[in-house]
Amino acid sequence: MAGELILVVEDNDKNRKLVRDVLTVRGYRLLEAVTGEDGVRLAREHRPDLVLMDIQLPGIDGIEALRQLRADPALAGTPVLAVTASAMTHDRQKILAAGFDGYQSKPISVRPFLEAVREVLDRRGRAG
Ligand code: MN
Repeated sequence: MAGELILVVEDNDKNRKLVRDVLTVRGYRLLEAVTGEDGVRLAREHRPDLVLMDIQLPGIDGIEALRQLRADPALAGTPVLAVTASAMTHDRQKILAAGFDGYQSKPISVRPFLEAVREVLDRRGRAG
């Protein structure tokens, strides 16, 4: 089941490395972007199976990046999970209202994180 292509948009090197390590050991393929602009560009070029999106980013934030992804017909159905700092959990409603397919807080806790990734990928598979 693994091998799906996942785009990680995260400006913090440590957080990005942790996500990379956890996902690649499970066999997922990774694309990485440090800004929302690069994330949108990579998504258009590579059509990932899933996008993991930080909210606080240099340049456009994760909510604006999501809006741009959803505005692209080729990417409108791509699942996007928000991954953001626990300090922002009070913004959970705002994040879900923006149209994210789910929400994981940072620092990630490995098992629930992997379960959320698998769940959203499987949900996508059933829908498609
Ligand atoms: Mn950030």
